[in-house]
Amino acid sequence: MNDEEFIIVNNIKYKINLEYEFRKTANVSIKNETINIKLPKLLSKKKKYEIINKFAKWAKKKLLKQKLKPKEIIYKQGEYINTEKKNYVLNFIKKDIKNITGKIVHNNLIINLPKNIKTINTSINKIKISKLIGKLIASDQKTYIENKISKINNRFFNEKINLITIKNMRTRWGSCSSKKNINLSTKLLLVPEYCLDYVIVHEIAHLKQPNHSKKFWIIVENIIPEYKKINKHLKDNGYKYNF
Ligand SMILES: [Zn+2]
Repeated sequence: MNDEEFIIVNNIKYKINLEYEFRKTANVSIKNETINIKLPKLLSKKKKYEIINKFAKWAKKKLLKQKLKPKEIIYKQGEYINTEKKNYVLNFIKKDIKNITGKIVHNNLIINLPKNIKTINTSINKIKISKLIGKLIASDQKTYIENKISKINNRFFNEKINLITIKNMRTRWGSCSSKKNINLSTKLLLVPEYCLDYVIVHEIAHLKQPNHSKKFWIIVENIIPEYKKINKHLKDNGYKYNF
């Protein structure tokens, strides 16, 4: 196992990140889509692999128990990918290329596949295609999302927002940073509009209150009184929203 290893659980790719420290015992933690393993600097190769394998097994077991099981997707030519805003038709084209690429033309979601790909739906290909589709649709709908954010911000907050990024986050709906950047998961392109609105309100509210304190939830509740229901819906059904 080298430092670029990963495991796939429920169609989500988790990177295994190794860190070497002056410490006596090894330690493992999972954060978002990374399994962080801290290892003592002085360790034999054999012992190191033993620990990594043991921790990888532990992580897999733990991740399998999570509620966030994405639905199994089989990509087919001509199939629809329906988002809240717009529906797209999948169009696979084999080309003399090395990597999977794609573009959107009107409602056509064109995925270019290298000629040597025999089966589209292997787990590695599916992860690549899913990420690509998310990225393409995110850029296709970026203006719509940005307008929505600025509308909500102007109406309720008037915060300075620096950068808005819609990216492939599978285990979180959104995040924000002290630099006043807001990140949203591409999965939000698939949820009902009121859920998207909630996540936007949630993230902008964090620019006022960075934690999940009582104060924070009061800000959210003043704008979306039924926020608890929406939060629960996203928690319980999050796995269904998947490209
Ligand atoms: Zn939060």
